Amino acid sequence: MANSSLLQDSNPAHGAPASLEACPLCSGSQLRWFDLDYRGTPIFSCGTCEMRFVNPQPSLEALHQLYADYDGTQGPDAGAHRTPRQERRRQRNQKRFPGELKHAYNFQLIERYAAPGRLLSIGCGSGTDLKVARARGWQVEGLEIDPGLARQTTEQTGCQVSHGNLLDFATEGALYDCVYMNHVLEHALAPGDWLRKVHSLLSPSGVMWIACPNIDSLSNRTKTLMGRLSLKAYRGKHYASWHHLFFFSPRHLARLLEKQYGFSVIHAQGELRPSQHGAMGVRERAYQALPNLKSCFQLIARKA
Ligand SMILES: [Zn+2]
Repeated sequence: MANSSLLQDSNPAHGAPASLEACPLCSGSQLRWFDLDYRGTPIFSCGTCEMRFVNPQPSLEALHQLYADYDGTQGPDAGAHRTPRQERRRQRNQKRFPGELKHAYNFQLIERYAAPGRLLSIGCGSGTDLKVARARGWQVEGLEIDPGLARQTTEQTGCQVSHGNLLDFATEGALYDCVYMNHVLEHALAPGDWLRKVHSLLSPSGVMWIACPNIDSLSNRTKTLMGRLSLKAYRGKHYASWHHLFFFSPRHLARLLEKQYGFSVIHAQGELRPSQHGAMGVRERAYQALPNLKSCFQLIARKA
């Protein structure tokens, strides 16, 4: 979504597509069929942590091929199946919610819990988030899987952008006061390994930012149901399984982070995309109380 190139696991064991025998996030062995999308991709649910995911997962090679020429907007679920009305709405939203404004809002939320310090953005793409954070006083670094994009972003923003796999990344300085993952975790082949790695990169008072689609939002639940009832032309298109491998909800992810990964969740809400400043209080409170009203969510956690 917001990021143009994403990091994937380099585990050689992931060289070929394979059916999962246990949940990659909690190791639970009770995997259940959940849904099937129009591309024939099976979606499974974990009976223990209730995460949902593509099963079998794609091979690492297939992902490398996907991300070699990836801009997040092109794919079988993108323009090809968008109605003219949906396309107009998409373009209108792009104008109403420019990336700078969205990231500025995100950092304003983060700064309620952490003062500007060292920040690492994983999957920073062209670096809009880095520029916004730097202007707010953060010492920013980015990480990108694609060396060409990392170099280009460094040249265009003046920010330090490393390239490589998150799991191989080693910080040269102090630990980070914020690790920012804005619409990237759902793309990871091994999100559990990512979460453990982020935990190791955070300072004791550092915070982790995650924004993701919400599989349990009202809108996505309705789409799932309509697909099952054969009322959708493209069943399960909302999974975007051509590039999303895991499907989170704020409730289940928060529980997993706290039970399994050593985090304490300090903030969660439906994704707010401010088109203008001011008058946010009521919407913020509504989306904190009822995050499933929005199709994506935002979550801040720190080390427990
Ligand atoms: Zn699980």
